[in-house]
Amino acid sequence: HSKGEGKNTFRFFHEELNRITRDHMALDHALRHAVQNDELVLLYQPKVNLETGEVTGVEALLRWNSPTFGMVSPIRFIPIAESNRTIIPIGEWVLRTACRQQVAWREQGLDLDMAVNISPIQFKSQAVISQVSSAIAETGIDPARLELELTESTLVEKPEAAMKTMNNLREIGCGIAIDDFGTGYSSLSYLRNFPVTCLKIDRSFICELAKNAGDRAIARSIVELAKSFGTCTVAEGVEGMDQQDILSDLGCDYIQGYLYSPPVAAERLVQVVQEIKQGFCDLHYGGEGSQ
Ligand code: C2E
Ligand code: MG
Ligand code: MG
Ligand code: MG
Repeated sequence: HSKGEGKNTFRFFHEELNRITRDHMALDHALRHAVQNDELVLLYQPKVNLETGEVTGVEALLRWNSPTFGMVSPIRFIPIAESNRTIIPIGEWVLRTACRQQVAWREQGLDLDMAVNISPIQFKSQAVISQVSSAIAETGIDPARLELELTESTLVEKPEAAMKTMNNLREIGCGIAIDDFGTGYSSLSYLRNFPVTCLKIDRSFICELAKNAGDRAIARSIVELAKSFGTCTVAEGVEGMDQQDILSDLGCDYIQGYLYSPPVAAERLVQVVQEIKQGFCDLHYGGEGSQ
């Protein structure tokens, strides 16, 4: 390495940092108006019962359609929304919109479980309980149909406070799922005490399920653990039949993934639900339909 190269590397690094900071500030600024400007959209991904092939629920997944930046992935903007706390009004919008959609489908005869992702910042803010209760009151959703997805990172920091909030949410009547389960650091004893209704097996254990015995062992342990605590299991990111077959053998309850459907717009969901049911029946009963 010559001295010049080092300098160039440093300059590149410096410029790159500047660019990242500029992008971040621009996104930060634009995000503050995203809710009022009606730039947020929810997509819905079906959750399929592995035994019956029935779509029993959906997960609401947020998209930001920014006039300046185009479609921005939540992976990119949620951390920014968390750092400037716009995640609080955004999270409130997500809850209300998802609940309203659940009721709209129910009125069309499709009564689905609605899972909503809750950010750790939103969960820790005192707002979460009132946000959830008013979303329920305003929309008339059956609270038992609403499930809140929390990540392990939400629970580890202050387990006592987290437990209290979770208990309040359970009293309101909604379910609580642990998202990306297995990737965080929550200890098993927390799990014993937390009022959790569902464990979602992280996609990182699902991708190589057919090839990797270690991943199969982890998936099997999570399903067993869930069974012993009386909670259900959802496998996320299922893309192939080989994965589905293994999960079905393990006794996993539900799967979510591109195998059945990516997240879709609300207008498309009813049709997707019918197609999934039909496809499952064709596969298992040789096209006899759903009798
Ligand atoms: P998540 O809650 O674990 O959601 C699952 C992610 O996996 C989604 O990405 C989904 O589109 C993607 N996915 C589903 N099936 C497959 C598959 O078969 N293969 C692959 N490769 N991916 C699959 P998405 O929609 O980009 O969301 C990413 C993350 O952003 C979510 O992870 C969640 O943590 C966060 N997020 C999304 N919407 C919200 C929201 O409304 N509020 C909050 N706080 N976070 C959200
Ligand atoms: Mg989720
Ligand atoms: Mg997840
Ligand atoms: Mg995930």
